[in-house]
Amino acid sequence: MADNALLTVNSLKKYYKSKGKDSYVKAVDDVSFSICRGETLGLVGESGCGKSTLGRAILKLSDVTAGQILFDNTDITGMKEKDFRPIRQRMQLIFQNPYSSLNPRMSVFDSVIAPLNIFKIGTKEERIERTKAILKYIGLDEYQFNKYPHEFSGGQRQRIVIARAIITDPDFIVCDEPVSALDVSVRAQVLNLMMDIQRDKGVAYLFISHDLSVVKHISTRIAVMYLGKIVELCDKDELYTRPLHPYTQALLSSIPIPDAENQPERIILQGDLPSPLNPPKGCRFHTRCRFAKECCKKDSPHFEEIFPGHFVSCHFAKEIYLNG
Ligand code: SF4
Repeated sequence: MADNALLTVNSLKKYYKSKGKDSYVKAVDDVSFSICRGETLGLVGESGCGKSTLGRAILKLSDVTAGQILFDNTDITGMKEKDFRPIRQRMQLIFQNPYSSLNPRMSVFDSVIAPLNIFKIGTKEERIERTKAILKYIGLDEYQFNKYPHEFSGGQRQRIVIARAIITDPDFIVCDEPVSALDVSVRAQVLNLMMDIQRDKGVAYLFISHDLSVVKHISTRIAVMYLGKIVELCDKDELYTRPLHPYTQALLSSIPIPDAENQPERIILQGDLPSPLNPPKGCRFHTRCRFAKECCKKDSPHFEEIFPGHFVSCHFAKEIYLNG
């Protein structure tokens, strides 16, 4: 893990007891990574792979089953809410759906100023001035400050949600599918705003998405998650030019490129994502992997550094790379 990490997650597990059964849904199973200040770690995977559960566990919105979360060198894993409160304002969350994450009965000004009131940051005048400044920063005009969420477009609403997330000047934001509900035409605007905020304020993002073409735009590094585990993690450019895990290769092959003639052959994954209640033994991906061998059904691969900074969980990552 990086020495200058802002956030470090060590062997994190989040299990849910299955209703009426003596078994557990292993939503997040032994996940480790770190995020540096001002960095964006993209976290991608299919719906149901555990990425949102991981994001919420990091923010202590749910208890973890095992493992450790360090934020700015402080172990926050088992911290009581009253001790965690000063840290909570430095860790924020942006949800997928901007409409449901804003109170329809509150003006956008009241919604955005709320965290400053809750955390008692600054004097009343300072809070008002800061809220006005942030709303202007995200592109609203003063005459719009007292309007209600339904009076804005989807892109504007997500900008308002972002304003609320940055009003406490956080160091870290979990962004859970923040542009998935938006029209393609406004996605780039919102992503550019998030990148401007990172440049101006040095905030770090955990950017969760099911779409590798979206995380490419914003990420510094990317982690690929499959059935509760991270199967590949490396620098963004490295991932797009030298994907080593068969699951990553399949995800990348499904991204359309403008030059249709050079579109790589699509790798179709067989079957659905298995249930995390009863994940396959050995390598969890073996039921859908085109390279699977007998040993993959029995032995779980280690998460190993195959090239500098490039971690993969596959018995045959090197062979797959060498054989093209
Ligand atoms: Fe495929 Fe085996 Fe590698 Fe798993 S360990 S990804 S099943 S080749």
